[in-house]
Amino acid sequence: MMTDKTLRGARVLAQKHAVVDGSRFRLDGCDPKECGGRDGLTKSGSQDLLAQGIGILAELQSKLYAQDHWSILLIFQAMDAAGKDGVIKHVMSGINPQGCEVHSFKAPSNEELDHDFMWRSMRRLPPRGTIGIFNRSYYEEVLVVRVHPELLQHQKLPSQLLTDDLFDQRYTDICKNERFLSRNGTVIRKFFLHVSKQEQRKRFLERIDDPEKNWKFSSADVRERQHWDEYMAAYETVIQKTSSPESPWHVIPADNKWYTRLAVAAVIIDTLASLELHYPKLDAKRLAELQAARAGLMAEKS
Ligand code: ATP
Ligand code: MG
Repeated sequence: MMTDKTLRGARVLAQKHAVVDGSRFRLDGCDPKECGGRDGLTKSGSQDLLAQGIGILAELQSKLYAQDHWSILLIFQAMDAAGKDGVIKHVMSGINPQGCEVHSFKAPSNEELDHDFMWRSMRRLPPRGTIGIFNRSYYEEVLVVRVHPELLQHQKLPSQLLTDDLFDQRYTDICKNERFLSRNGTVIRKFFLHVSKQEQRKRFLERIDDPEKNWKFSSADVRERQHWDEYMAAYETVIQKTSSPESPWHVIPADNKWYTRLAVAAVIIDTLASLELHYPKLDAKRLAELQAARAGLMAEKS
């Protein structure tokens, strides 16, 4: 049930982690361990709250789908083992799969490298009425590629375009593209699941020690960990350069999974609630059609 109190709670949590103007953003001002103690949130109370939130999301999604005007694009970025997959699985568990698609973006294929850096993501944009989830995205192009600029060599860019401005140009192009999309009815929310280096180490060790989690472990992830500080600098710059009121970043503390899930759910609920979604109201002609159909059905012999 959607009550004003839950919507207000969602708004508080959503605003707490939102970056709408990145100019003064500093990542070291965000604590990955934060878990809402001051807002009265607890791990034991979180399950009920999340269940309630998931119910509200289902209700809002149903209206989004019926209204068929807006589309929602949720972008998830994070270091490995920050919990992207778990968040997507839990928060979206009440959503009707018909109105939602998840796309995971891994290292680009040859075909993808034959196009501009946004191409593969733009092909996966959510249609109106639906929610699209990007598990990683075109932001990798200013994150992993920034940390490993040698990856640019595979992108077949004309050499004249490989200038020192390349990443600044990408931030500008991303912002302009997001503004374009939002002006056309795509509501964008971006999540950086902010896990600490110590918590990542703990989760990697669990993946190594627990046979049921072995499949999740990749040595490449440990190699990327060696570049931790460079990644944090790249994330900070991305959030500074690409946050805006129409497509804000949300820096979500990710050391406590229960809190991460609650905060992400809160942002999505707050976003959908702000759209004032409603089921379409039929005009007099359509209502008359319904009544005629009803009369026909009632007249059938059973
Ligand atoms: P999980 O490890 O939980 O399965 P993941 O999102 O980390 O999920 P991986 O199979 O590890 O999935 O692959 C993602 C890898 O692909 C990441 O290291 C990411 O940085 C890399 N990647 C994604 N997009 C690009 C890109 N445009 N250029 C280069 N590498 C990319
Ligand atoms: Mg990985």
